[in-house]
Amino acid sequence: MWRCRARSRGANAAMAESRRERRKVLVIEDERDIRELLRIALEAEGLQVLAAEDGELGLALVRRERPALVVLDLMLPGVGGFEICRRIRAEESMTRVPILILSARSGEPDKIVGRELGADDYGTKPFSPRELVARVRALLRRAWGDPGEAPSEIYRKGSIEIDFSAYEVRIDNQRVEFSLREFELLRFFVKHPNRVYERGQLLELVWGPDTFVEPRTVDVHVRRLRRRIERDDADPELIVTVRGVGYMFNERSLEAR
Ligand code: CA
Repeated sequence: MWRCRARSRGANAAMAESRRERRKVLVIEDERDIRELLRIALEAEGLQVLAAEDGELGLALVRRERPALVVLDLMLPGVGGFEICRRIRAEESMTRVPILILSARSGEPDKIVGRELGADDYGTKPFSPRELVARVRALLRRAWGDPGEAPSEIYRKGSIEIDFSAYEVRIDNQRVEFSLREFELLRFFVKHPNRVYERGQLLELVWGPDTFVEPRTVDVHVRRLRRRIERDDADPELIVTVRGVGYMFNERSLEAR
């Protein structure tokens, strides 16, 4: 009896562990800005991100952390991406793990070599963070089954309730209408609370890198968001301006409303 119970506790722990593991993504990328962009975009999806700036460090992390997916740059200092791809595939624990190559080299030969070495997908730079996240999720689903949605599809705090899958927002139980972009901006803020973002970062992460809009556009959207969600949009407490830097979603203020 006792042994049986102990075993089932162990099994539950193993299941919880494997769910957690399936959210672990390793990014091997030598360019710091791209690494950070990937980290922000993937963390927004509830994924845990490990990062390595070269292939050898990446391989060490593969062995130690057993990530559920690897995003791999090709042009790396030292050992190149193709060789790293081959070595990852040669690891016994990594035969099922999806590898997504992300490279500035967009030629067909590179894609073919990548596939032959066992990569599952090939994205080219510059890339849209949203598209990349969608590819990562698709690969994770294909390899490991549905990992479950990011932390929660419903956000409820203080007077705000957001249903991310239905695109519905309620403030004080009243439905509030948003444009799609406003909703996405709100979603971004809510998923990254209490952190300051510059206008350029918000443009990149919410609008995508290929849209040619001015940073002022962010201000316009923030104003519209404030009109809908703030008690007093002349004195905002939820989306606050951090002077000289950008904007921050001040989640703590929801505790008081
Ligand atoms: Ca590179």
